Amino acid sequence: MRNNYTSMREWLNILYENGLLKHVKKKVKLEFEVAALGKKACGKYALYFEHIRGQNLPADNKIPIVTGIAGSRNMIALAMGVAVDEIGKHFAAMQSNPLPPTIVDNAHAPVKEVITKDVNLYRLPIPIHHEKDAGQYITAGIVVAKNPITGERNVSIHRLQVHDKNHLGILLLPRHLKALQQMMESEGKPLEVAISIGNDPIILLASQAIVPLGFDEFGIAGALYGEPVKLVKGETISVEYPAYCEIVLEGKILPDVRHPEGPFGEYPKYYGPKADREVVEVTCIASRRDPIYQTIVPATDEHTLLGAVAREGGLLKSVQQAVPTAKKVYLSPGGAGRYHLVIQIDKKNEGEAKNAIFAALGNNQEIKHVVVVDTDVDIFDPIDVSWAIATRCQADKDVFIISGACGNKLDPSSNDGVSAKMGIDATVPMQDKSTEKFNRIQIPGEENINLIQYID
Ligand code: MN
Repeated sequence: MRNNYTSMREWLNILYENGLLKHVKKKVKLEFEVAALGKKACGKYALYFEHIRGQNLPADNKIPIVTGIAGSRNMIALAMGVAVDEIGKHFAAMQSNPLPPTIVDNAHAPVKEVITKDVNLYRLPIPIHHEKDAGQYITAGIVVAKNPITGERNVSIHRLQVHDKNHLGILLLPRHLKALQQMMESEGKPLEVAISIGNDPIILLASQAIVPLGFDEFGIAGALYGEPVKLVKGETISVEYPAYCEIVLEGKILPDVRHPEGPFGEYPKYYGPKADREVVEVTCIASRRDPIYQTIVPATDEHTLLGAVAREGGLLKSVQQAVPTAKKVYLSPGGAGRYHLVIQIDKKNEGEAKNAIFAALGNNQEIKHVVVVDTDVDIFDPIDVSWAIATRCQADKDVFIISGACGNKLDPSSNDGVSAKMGIDATVPMQDKSTEKFNRIQIPGEENINLIQYID
């Protein structure tokens, strides 16, 4: 498969052609208005804000904002060129067959059309999203860094708070970028980073892959495109970044510097608290001549889906190792795309549902509650899943709870990340499978009847 786009600009054209992008011509405020509109449109269509004004923004700002460019599973399926229920599986397959990026020179990198070392972040239309957010936040910045010893690249998304005209606060959870930053800080050195803004769904998704440290996430994007991602060398840093993105902030995470960052409205729909966190000093801004700024409104489907899709493929593989007849997995939006998992299995032996739950909980520590259903249940339909729990589950034997496991710190009900886990077996018992007891009612011919043809 080869996609017919390799940049956000080209992707916006595809969205527009499919009726999935709407232009906003009215003047819109950076403070909350962009976020409110983006949240309302998310999942239905992407928005392109033509005229932005903001407290800190120059009055003659010409940079538009887009949001919601990967706001639904349908959009992501279109972006990947596969059916909606294949996206997790396809992502996992591409993750297993990465295609490494290539390096192009400045002349072939649109993001190098304008280069300035006179850095002023307030010239960019960076929104304030939620009521109690500490300030303007970059939410769709792809942070690229390199392992100082091996040179291996890392790609991830981090929330970035504007502190002043050339400093950003950054949240580093205990993952790959934090590990690289600690390696440098232990020697008293900064870690060079590129913050790439204005990327298509493929690069956004690839950045969310659950892969080991040292695995270049751009390789997954290459596999999804069907051609290598084109990167270009930095002006003030040795880190390469996407040549076809819109805007790049080059800089470094300063050693032994911490500054208050947060609060910030996060994906579980609560605020992540304020704390002293690392600081990025921006040394250079590269951009297209007419750049488009991209934001992801936190806690919308766009935010939670990117991580959910990247997790589902790996989860399905893990569950299938334990239960080979597992068919599908779904990290549902009600669980913020992280905490609630539904698994569909074609149960052949009693007990398999529980094994599937163990495998899922072992694969990913963010998952809290797992429901297992049979193949006649639509796992993407919350009513159908609820029906299965209502009619195929007896809590005294089909529900189990484990205390004190590793969960997610952003879950406010956890004890600083220590969390209970619950498994719910909502599958029909094996001994009842051959009886009429659990036979779902059906109307013969219903599937093939088209109501519209009967209505005058
Ligand atoms: Mn990584």
